[in-house]
Amino acid sequence: MTSLKFYNKIFFLLTFFIGFSSFYSQKKFTIVLDAGHGGSDIGANRYYSDIGSVQEKNVTLGIVLKLGRMLEKHKDYKVIYTRKVDEYPSLTARTDLANRSKADLFISIHVNSSPSKSATAQGTETFVQGPNQNKANLDVAKAENDVIFLDEKDKENFASYNPSSPESLIALKIQQSKYLQASLTIGGLVEENFVKKDKRLSRGVKQENLHVLRMNAMPSILIETGFVNNYDDARYISTEEGQQAIAESIFNAIVSYKKLVDRNIKEPEPEKPVEQPLKNDFRILLMSTPTKYNEDDPALKGLKYILPIKENGAYKYYYGTTNYASVRDTNLKTAKDAGFRNSMAISFVPNQALGMGYYTLEIYAGKDKLDSKSVVMKTLPDMIRTKENGIFYYTFGRYRTFEDAVKAQKDLESKGINNTVIEKKLK
Ligand SMILES: [Zn+2]
Repeated sequence: MTSLKFYNKIFFLLTFFIGFSSFYSQKKFTIVLDAGHGGSDIGANRYYSDIGSVQEKNVTLGIVLKLGRMLEKHKDYKVIYTRKVDEYPSLTARTDLANRSKADLFISIHVNSSPSKSATAQGTETFVQGPNQNKANLDVAKAENDVIFLDEKDKENFASYNPSSPESLIALKIQQSKYLQASLTIGGLVEENFVKKDKRLSRGVKQENLHVLRMNAMPSILIETGFVNNYDDARYISTEEGQQAIAESIFNAIVSYKKLVDRNIKEPEPEKPVEQPLKNDFRILLMSTPTKYNEDDPALKGLKYILPIKENGAYKYYYGTTNYASVRDTNLKTAKDAGFRNSMAISFVPNQALGMGYYTLEIYAGKDKLDSKSVVMKTLPDMIRTKENGIFYYTFGRYRTFEDAVKAQKDLESKGINNTVIEKKLK
């Protein structure tokens, strides 16, 4: 091979591989990790003499950073943090970031707090966006939607929003229905891992109107990782081990969720197998009659592509020709719908010579002889003329197969001789 050809080939291969790899690296699975609260917004908190101060904003950041590190080790994932330090991004800023980055998943991490002093509430729960289903969730909504921490943009976005107005509910239902099922799926996986892997108590997956989820254009969940005013929970979520276990459970849930998403994308609807042609051709027999009709005769009920074949003195009118079963069935239905109730599909063995006999073309049938000066007589002077029951018949040619006769018929049409009929002559 010449060097030019060689370099061309290298160039082609390079282009191919670059194109190929960029195609696959094009879209990473993008996850927005949102550590709830931050900065002056401490979130839920409690002081214990042995544990010290447990602050929601620190717990959520600890879990998010651990989870982010796990995800970043895998090339399939792209992680976007709403915050990596102790600061407070507004809820609108968090949502805008997620929507701008066209993320595939939004995960907001939080810590719960029960209003009762008894501190019996314990365990995890995950929220997806939706109208609240029961009154108990309202406490979570109040805490997480805390109006003190809404900035000017937040107030503008959320102030006019009244979750109990019919308009808001309709808008919400439309928005949430798009991502609800996916959000419920990832939420369910997270809670399942908390129970099975970490032996935590799960309060389940719930729907609630939460500002940080409401404007997201992607499946979104808010995970309450435990109750700050429950001693066991508070100790668990404030330790490195507890946070690591929580992060792992969420990580495993994301991996499972992505597998489900990939399967849905990569496995297209099972395609119908490509229809194989049949061995024989099929035509729809409309009727058999001694009368000869021309192609535009009303007796043919407006059907086109009609082929008359004469046999034993009768004209058989066939509609359509195909070697596909589906087309054959459609043609039969068309014929029946047109009014040929007794029509049926007849199979023709292609290119089969008649054992005893031949095909010829009937050019003319009529009470009068053809004028010797007519175009037909001049074009086909060696036609054979016969007379039967007072009718003159003019035929032309001898053909071994049906296909040969069709070809001759087409040939005559190009010479202006129309409405001829293929006739099967049996000896
Ligand atoms: Zn919170």
